[in-house]
Amino acid sequence: MSRSAELRDNLTTVQRRIAGAARSVGRDPGEVDLVVITKYFPVDDVRRLIDLGVQHVGENKDQEASQKLADLSAAEREGVRVHFVGQLQSNKAGHVSAYADVVQSVDRAKIVNALAKGAARHERDVDVMLQVDLDGSDPGRGGVLVDDLLDLAQSVADADRLTLRGVMAVAPRGGDAGDAFARLAELAGTVQAVHPGADCISAGMSADLEAAIEHGATHVRVGSAILGPRPSL
Ligand SMILES: *Cc1c(COP(=O)(O)O)cnc(C)c1O
Repeated sequence: MSRSAELRDNLTTVQRRIAGAARSVGRDPGEVDLVVITKYFPVDDVRRLIDLGVQHVGENKDQEASQKLADLSAAEREGVRVHFVGQLQSNKAGHVSAYADVVQSVDRAKIVNALAKGAARHERDVDVMLQVDLDGSDPGRGGVLVDDLLDLAQSVADADRLTLRGVMAVAPRGGDAGDAFARLAELAGTVQAVHPGADCISAGMSADLEAAIEHGATHVRVGSAILGPRPSL
């Protein structure tokens, strides 16, 4: 089977999973955006996905992402939203604002400042989601602690060229993904009570997207279920 056919079949399977999960809780499948995480895969796969109608692609490393996006022509990128979902260092965050439309992994004030400066320098507007650390005990995966979430939300709301769009999380290892996503939905509500426009919840990956959609996810981030197992770099 050609790579395009393989991607098409996997995409169809994932779209069916999304639709099934949404309908099972009475949600419109159209409320859930599929962000295909293309990290470690070549730009040709990104092109194939765009040809198949994918409108949201995500990357998690600045260098890899900026190279791949530079390889796409403006015409190829037209209508595609680029999400950055990886951990950021403050010295890289400004650079991400050169090409990302959405940065989902903002987890501290230093990153907000660096992104805002980069967005101003590149004259671009960038949507922001706040990555929440749902278990507070796994610092390697990033995320703002729940106690600091509202302060961080305010700093994004106050920044020029950044728009606060919502929250993002990765389910803690071990434990029930549904419980984690229920907690995230609660936190999303807390943020939205202060910032009504911040109505997005990015949760769920290949293994747990159903649980995320049941708990209100508006964005799922799916890599391996569409692209296959990631090659090691
Ligand atoms: C890689 C990645 C994903 C996709 O993971 P899969 O299990 O391959 O679907 C989702 N979110 C983030 C933050 C990632 O880095």
